[in-house]
Amino acid sequence: MIDIKIPQEVQLILKVLTAQGYEAYVVGGCVRDSLLGKKPQDWDICTSALPQEVKKAFNNLPVLETGLKHGTVTVMIDHKPYEVTTYRIEDQYSDNRHPDKVEFVKDLEQDLARRDFTINAMAYNPKSGLVDCFNGLADLDNKIIRCVGKAEERFLEDGLRILRAIRFASTYNFKIERATTEAIYSKKNLLANLAGERIQIELDKLLCGSGVKEILHQFAEVLAVIIPEIWPMLGFEQNNPHHIYDLWTHTIESVAQAPPQLVLRLTMLLHDLGKPDCYTVDEKGIGHFYGHSKISAEKAKDILQRLKYDRATIDTVLTLVANHDLDLLPQKKYLKSLLNKIGIENFRLLLEVQKADNKAKHPEVKKECLEKIREMEGLLEEIIRQEECFTLKDLAVNGQDLLELGMKQGPEVGTILNFLLQQVIEERVGNSKEKLLLLAQNYVKTE
Ligand code: ATP
Ligand code: MG
Repeated sequence: MIDIKIPQEVQLILKVLTAQGYEAYVVGGCVRDSLLGKKPQDWDICTSALPQEVKKAFNNLPVLETGLKHGTVTVMIDHKPYEVTTYRIEDQYSDNRHPDKVEFVKDLEQDLARRDFTINAMAYNPKSGLVDCFNGLADLDNKIIRCVGKAEERFLEDGLRILRAIRFASTYNFKIERATTEAIYSKKNLLANLAGERIQIELDKLLCGSGVKEILHQFAEVLAVIIPEIWPMLGFEQNNPHHIYDLWTHTIESVAQAPPQLVLRLTMLLHDLGKPDCYTVDEKGIGHFYGHSKISAEKAKDILQRLKYDRATIDTVLTLVANHDLDLLPQKKYLKSLLNKIGIENFRLLLEVQKADNKAKHPEVKKECLEKIREMEGLLEEIIRQEECFTLKDLAVNGQDLLELGMKQGPEVGTILNFLLQQVIEERVGNSKEKLLLLAQNYVKTE
């Protein structure tokens, strides 16, 4: 018999509910992940008890009415939340987004039947073992994503399931079963009606999955419903000796080459969006894309805002997209000036972006670029080790020092500090207080 290790707190919740005559199971993602040998992120519990009955059963613990209307209450144990949801079915999705209303039911199987995929529709408790009405375990063993029930109907109820199917396939490197695949294609336009926030959550997991390459290849046209800007990239020939792939294939390759960190994967997905708009052919018949990174960044901004990404993510991704093809010079002065402009964190990310981008080009280009990147990494470590100055924060003088020299408070102080920093970065003067103060005085005199 299948045995799933359940944390103490969750066992307690199951015990309390069962002791009062209700049924209770862990269900969904946590069962799937346990069976896959992965640690579940959270443990969802489903029960035959109504929300008010759950509240009563835990009257000695804090219980939050987080989603009472949908049958969910949150039991707090040691400040950690556990969602307990009454068995329910969902009625009519007239907007393909939210169930119009939910109905509580007495039967676990009905609750499992409303779930999206067979691998997500299993429940477990130590007494009854695994409840697997839709052969989820077999699909898990065979690495298959399959809708519970008729795929088309399930997607009509909630279009997000289309994207969820693809993201689970990417995360676990699973195949999507045929009828489900066909329905994904025939119903893909439903994705156009979904809220950006819901799309974003799934897209993030999809991009960071180990099967991302296969999925972006197989379902490019599905993704293009969410991000129509990718349409012109599909099958676009680059006609350039640096490239061995068409534009979309290069994009996919570069996504897969980047470490599975969201900002990097997003950057790679978006970095060449501007290429089709900038395409020119020279007299030798070679294709060029002058200025494409700027256009890519503009398009990326639109997309990221539409999908409701947070400010920090947008800022980082736009910096990386705009600079992805920067011709890095292996010189310290150049590097310090760049570090001053984009910061050390972004620079490290930029190196990862260039690595991924170049690994997805012609093997010859790849070799040369990777050597240069290694050189830049060496220079960066040297700058850090020697605590070299490349920001105002590192400068041996500050605004107060200039005021003490008798300068007046005002914007000029900032101008002079920046001038001094430039001199230090360009190695025209050392970062010493004495020398910099002298230089400041001369600067003022010559003004
Ligand atoms: P993750 O591990 O990424 O959290 P998950 O499967 O747990 O994946 P959740 O969004 O936490 O995803 O949902 C928990 C469970 O609720 C799922 O396993 C599934 O049974 C069900 N579920 C979630 N979203 C849907 C949906 N859109 N349609 C049908 N069932 C859903
Ligand atoms: Mg979950």
